[in-house]
Amino acid sequence: MAAPIFEAALAGLLHDIGLVALRAGVAPPQPWGEAQREEFGQAHALLSAAACSHLPAQWQPVLAEAAHHHRPRTRLARLVAISEALATGEPEVDEDGGPSHLLSIFSRVAIPGQGAAPEGLYLPLLPLALQKEALFPSRASPPGDGRAGHAALWQGLQDRLAGLQRAYAAPGADGAAYLGNLLHLLRQYTGCVPAGADVSLYDHSRITAALAVCLSGCSDTELQALAQRPAESDVPVALVVVGDISGVQDFIYTITPRGAASALRGRSLYLQLLSDAVASYVLARLGLPPTNLIYSSGGRFCLLVPPAAAAELAELRRYVSRVLLAHHAGALYMALGHASLPASSFYQGRFAGPWAEVNAALRRSKDRRFSELGAELHQLLFVPWRDQGNEERECQVCHLEHPRCRQEGELRKCPACRALEELGEALRQARYLCLDEVAPSFQGGEPAGTPQEVLAAFGMRARLLDELPPPAGPDVERRHVLALDDEAARLLEPAPRCVVGRRFLVNVTPVGPHGVGRTGDLAGASQGVKRLGVLRLDVDNLGAAFSAGLGARASLSRVAALSQAIDQYFEGWVEVLAREYNPSDSPHRAYSIYSGGDDLFFVGSWDAMAGLARRINADFAEYTGYHPGLHLSGGLVLVTERYPLYQAARDAGQAEEEAKLLPGKNAFCFLGQTLPWPTLERAADLTGRLRELLKAGKVSRGLLRLLITTQAAYEEARLRTLREGGGHTLTGQPQGYYGPWVPRAQYMLARMAELHRSAAREIGELQELLREDDYRAVAWVGLAARWAELLTREDSGREEKGA
Ligand SMILES: [Zn+2]
Repeated sequence: MAAPIFEAALAGLLHDIGLVALRAGVAPPQPWGEAQREEFGQAHALLSAAACSHLPAQWQPVLAEAAHHHRPRTRLARLVAISEALATGEPEVDEDGGPSHLLSIFSRVAIPGQGAAPEGLYLPLLPLALQKEALFPSRASPPGDGRAGHAALWQGLQDRLAGLQRAYAAPGADGAAYLGNLLHLLRQYTGCVPAGADVSLYDHSRITAALAVCLSGCSDTELQALAQRPAESDVPVALVVVGDISGVQDFIYTITPRGAASALRGRSLYLQLLSDAVASYVLARLGLPPTNLIYSSGGRFCLLVPPAAAAELAELRRYVSRVLLAHHAGALYMALGHASLPASSFYQGRFAGPWAEVNAALRRSKDRRFSELGAELHQLLFVPWRDQGNEERECQVCHLEHPRCRQEGELRKCPACRALEELGEALRQARYLCLDEVAPSFQGGEPAGTPQEVLAAFGMRARLLDELPPPAGPDVERRHVLALDDEAARLLEPAPRCVVGRRFLVNVTPVGPHGVGRTGDLAGASQGVKRLGVLRLDVDNLGAAFSAGLGARASLSRVAALSQAIDQYFEGWVEVLAREYNPSDSPHRAYSIYSGGDDLFFVGSWDAMAGLARRINADFAEYTGYHPGLHLSGGLVLVTERYPLYQAARDAGQAEEEAKLLPGKNAFCFLGQTLPWPTLERAADLTGRLRELLKAGKVSRGLLRLLITTQAAYEEARLRTLREGGGHTLTGQPQGYYGPWVPRAQYMLARMAELHRSAAREIGELQELLREDDYRAVAWVGLAARWAELLTREDSGREEKGA
């Protein structure tokens, strides 16, 4: 990386670090007076200058210059000033009088037609950790002056900076690794510190840094011109580049081995690593630092690159396609789109324009997959060793031919499918993800599409480890050691050429009575009927939230904040919730296949998966401040352990789609029925009461059967009306469905109440419930009865397919 680029990145990242010290009540090295105002403009800048002492000696002058960004006299200070102005998108912010707590991005998102954003949600002033106190916003108002919180954060920052100072003291130390380490620690300690009302110091700093890098090639005259009236300037400042993997669904689910949960896990992890690798490859090829990666999650990444990089991007895009085509025979494609960001697009929500443009470019790219390869495409598509129709060489998992296919168990598998399964297996015990930056290598011949080969083509070597790796060899340019749990993170030490940090990754796997757990154990650990539950959930309306939810406040930092907030929930908090189903002293009941971006996929004991879905939904509501437009929809299907998992995953996906058909979404499809979440909660509550009644011997199973047949009759009437074109009353209200089953059910319940005197009150309540909502309550009352029936049924789990 060229020196001016490194300096721009470092200056951008740390220019406002003094803000934490200021809010912590740290006294400046010299009293604040007229001379200081003249030199620094604002008090936090003076404290940023003082923070120089925490940096390795060779880089202290960079921060000393950057600290003058409110009174710029040097080129670097001017570069930071203009980059900061663009990142903020407002003329000049008086940060010294700024807010004490960060407003949650969820308080800024209002999806058109979906109600107002929840007001006054503030994030706690705590270092990032997988704890509710640190992750969840609250409405505590007024939140106080935040001095104690900032003081603790400032102490943490200083300690960590001191460690880095020692590791990078040598002249010629690796600047890119230092920046990578800084990014991790700024995320941890300044992600909750407000730079503006709703923009964290972490986002503000890294976006300032990314823009400073993009502008670092400008001449002094160009910079001065840009500083004049940026809000009216059409001068291109950067390109926003988005990469998005397509073919994911088929890649994960078009595989056929039975019960291969680890294969699905391996494939999901590989896709995330692939997205990370391509992002880091593009940055490395353009000579850009890690500050210019805005986010990478859920198989999608976003970068900021200098405007002049457009031509080179086209060449990089061809390379990425060539590698993926050779290795995956067209099954996976990385769409890459970009849009130019003129200076004016950083103001008044105009960012929405380029953002829509980049998404349109992605759609075009996906519609014409691999078209960027032109004439080369035909050459690459015909692969003699792959297209021989030789059955002996056909992988029975992915159906591609490969000369190195090998029989493994009852299936013949290609090297890629074997390696992907191993990756999923290795993840089970993993505590660290070790990513090495190496020289990219891409050979023709017989590319097998193993994760190792493909990642190597993008200059990455990935390994999952259960303990810290030894120092990297000379072939490794830079190593990233990412701790996968908080405990493992405590053992990390910064080292030269080594980036250390925490990575959230939902890694919940069962350990059965005989060691490694299997899906059969999960089904066996169910209550009642022995079934596997397959759960999929995702966020509703997220596309609209990004494209229109921020309105006039749309900016890159807010888009990044929204993406991180959602990702943090799925990559982080979901793990905490899922772990509760695998306590150390009883059978494990949950298994994560994937959770990140805005969706998740779990398998486990079916009743545990129903509980987990409800927990995830309830906490997501709390996490978003009960946002009226941001909620979840999902589906849960029950299958026997021998039912093919990839098929079950598709069934669960279909159930999720069903749930999204409900007007307003925000629903869950379970046991073949879609209910809004609040109704599901009522059903769960009734299920619990029915179960208690049965357990106490107060009623017979006949009660459950009655409720189930009543619901079946109701459902039949409903479908019949729909077929005949009805379903609504003359006033447009959804119709109730009255039939002979109504008096019959009431009569039967009355008789049961007489028969089971001790349950007379509860049965009376059921009669009331059934009448509710013009008898439409029958739908969920019946679901509760089926739920209770499954929970209490004795079962050996030997049937072919579940409910
Ligand atoms: Zn294969």
